[in-house]
Amino acid sequence: MSALAVMAVLAAGAVAPSAVAQTAVAQTAVAQAAGVTREEAVRQVLAQRVDALERGDRAAFLDTVDIAATDDFKIRQGRLFDGLRSLPLESYELELRTDEVPDLAAGLAARYPGAEAVFLPPVEAGYRLTGIDTIDAVDGYYYTFLLRDGRWRIVSDRDLEDVGLPSARNLWDYGPVHQQRTDHFTILHDPADRKRAEALGTLCEQGYVRLKSAFDKAIPTQIVVVLPHTLDQLREILQATFDLSNFVAFASAAVDRDDDWKATAPRVYVQDMNLARSRRDFQLQTFHHEFTHVSAFALAGPFVPSWVHEGVADWMAGGEKSPSKVDGSDGVLPEDWEFTTGGAESIIRAYDESTSAMAFLAARKGKTAPLDLLAEIGELRVAPGTAEYRVDQSLQAVYGAGLAQFQKDWSGGR
Ligand SMILES: [Zn+2]
Repeated sequence: MSALAVMAVLAAGAVAPSAVAQTAVAQTAVAQAAGVTREEAVRQVLAQRVDALERGDRAAFLDTVDIAATDDFKIRQGRLFDGLRSLPLESYELELRTDEVPDLAAGLAARYPGAEAVFLPPVEAGYRLTGIDTIDAVDGYYYTFLLRDGRWRIVSDRDLEDVGLPSARNLWDYGPVHQQRTDHFTILHDPADRKRAEALGTLCEQGYVRLKSAFDKAIPTQIVVVLPHTLDQLREILQATFDLSNFVAFASAAVDRDDDWKATAPRVYVQDMNLARSRRDFQLQTFHHEFTHVSAFALAGPFVPSWVHEGVADWMAGGEKSPSKVDGSDGVLPEDWEFTTGGAESIIRAYDESTSAMAFLAARKGKTAPLDLLAEIGELRVAPGTAEYRVDQSLQAVYGAGLAQFQKDWSGGR
């Protein structure tokens, strides 16, 4: 609202420039800021950050942070700069996404009474790691921009957390990261975890050999594995609302909906509180599972349900065994939420049911059928119809009958 008022002042000034010339210095600054739209002004703030990062100019980067920001935010922004500088960045861009949502600042003006205007547009970071990423990794940010004395600066990245819109966090938000490189992997880690990162590099290469022998479609030649220093860091990075103590590792990629539907550069995250304590073969199997996800992301579209993703990964990583009975199964394929909530026992059952369903499909239709099913469902991107309908159609093509019949056959024939 105050932004509109400022623009009105400029319009008047444009009509009567002599009147503007007589105003005080502070007001001239306001007029200069208002000479461009707030979108353009904020784009300049983002450009200043990108430029400062390229040049290694910490002061210029931190100059984009508002004076009234909390010490915590200022310190975190400094760490982010140091962390980003420690990465082998091939490219780094910040883009305003007002095309998605124009402004999320409603109700925030009261939080920043000293500011002339508040603006909260979604911002997207797109970046590639040199020699690793062949597509962009994409992160979303919710920066609150304040107009003060004619300049826009960032005061917070957490104002929308309580409405479920946290800004992205990466390992480099906590400071400089080190890399452990092997033939196919880059393990990003806290400098304190070098020993463990070396051990993980060896395990990952062994997991890669397994992936190569099991996955009959293209696999990435370079994979990024992130080893967080603490469980809290992992929770923030994954923006997880579920209990991480039930898991050993995660594979993730964002979705780029700009044209059609594309997965962005994938990452594997290690929950090392659990993984480090596991038997070596289980660790290997875990990496094989996650690398299967990473390879499958390129084939997957919005309609691939978790039971297909997890079933394919678990069945392949588990050595492509024959179907077996799942204790306590209700004979119904699990919904997506059953993989993260409901407690350890029920989560494990969801995985086992999915694995068993894929083993059943492979036993009936051959070893390539599980991945063929994933690719068949994944091929459908913006097609109409519900996810269930798409799964049904794809099962018709790969299995020869729809979802209801497949589920019936599987639960009867496990
Ligand atoms: Zn999985």
